[in-house]
Amino acid sequence: MIARFTDCLRLFSGVFILSLVLAGCSEPPREFNETVFTMGTLVEVTIIGEEEALTDRAYAAILDDFSYMHNTWHPWQRNALARINSLLKTGAPFSLAPSILPLIERSKQLSGQSNGLFNPAIGGLVKLWGFHQDDLEEIFGPPEPAAIGAFLQDMPQMSDIDFKNLTMHGRNPNIHLDFGGFAKGMAVDNTIAHLREFGINNAIINAGGDLRAIGQNGSRPWRIGIRDPRGEDVFASIEISGDESVFTSGDYERYFTVDNKRYHHIIDPRTGYPADQTRSVTVLHSDAATADAAATALFIAGPQQWHSIARTMGIKFVMLIDKAGKVHMNPAMAKRIEFNNRRPDISLSKPL
Ligand code: ADP
Ligand code: MG
Repeated sequence: MIARFTDCLRLFSGVFILSLVLAGCSEPPREFNETVFTMGTLVEVTIIGEEEALTDRAYAAILDDFSYMHNTWHPWQRNALARINSLLKTGAPFSLAPSILPLIERSKQLSGQSNGLFNPAIGGLVKLWGFHQDDLEEIFGPPEPAAIGAFLQDMPQMSDIDFKNLTMHGRNPNIHLDFGGFAKGMAVDNTIAHLREFGINNAIINAGGDLRAIGQNGSRPWRIGIRDPRGEDVFASIEISGDESVFTSGDYERYFTVDNKRYHHIIDPRTGYPADQTRSVTVLHSDAATADAAATALFIAGPQQWHSIARTMGIKFVMLIDKAGKVHMNPAMAKRIEFNNRRPDISLSKPL
């Protein structure tokens, strides 16, 4: 969800950047580090080894990018996306704002690859659960089963949206596009591309704990800590260098509790209910948009199906923590992950 003011309390919800503390070379390169609240989350920008004037200009430019994306992509504000959402429901052809086209194209493709588990057309279902609101304290319980059942009868899919060039039409009145499952990834990719246009090659953009890192932290790789989904501690860590994104979807991010049952914001489009087999999924992938969509899809796929969905999405590194706390990983991920304290109960899959 783009507008999440509660996120400001949880900058490092999924991961922590450890390398800034651990890098101990004698003459460290200049480090720029600023944190800003934008797109409903805290975004930390780290740039290594560049002149002050350049980093200031680059930072100002990406702040503008973030506020543009926030205003244009927010699923529940009066903006370009709201117009598309209302016209899609009518079934009539209309011309589409070009600023939204990349989101629709990419998410259609990712939704297909995830076998519909990542489904940004289900904004109506997200709203039925109340997760479109910033403040979850106003939710008093799950929706009526009949309302969920009615939605399932005519479940919208991304394949219900057709477009050619900039002309689009919808084929399901229940479509409401909510890009909350991958907008953060798209935004991180766009801003990394913008930093590169400034000639910056060593940086991290960390959006509320989900990040893309390019280059290195001085002479060392970046070192990223992964949060324990049932605690505040760093429970594992991983090194990355070159160009890689680390995205985590967790049941601890946004939820409400009724009668000791946790209802969180990642909805299984097959049942209409929050996916209930997983605590968290961490995905590594080169681009952030794919990593973000895949983390959401594999969370829903759960311990039985994550492997096959990771394959169709082209994902090579996955760590899934199931509802019992067991860690599922593919061998390539297991080689890269370092557990901090006790080694958890691990189930190693076949290679991806
Ligand atoms: P976070 O943004 O907290 O890291 P996710 O990337 O997993 O978490 O995105 C969760 C958001 O995605 C929800 O708040 C909702 O807006 C949207 N969403 C929920 N279920 C789905 C789904 N099955 N497919 C696509 N988007 C979803
Ligand atoms: Mg996601």
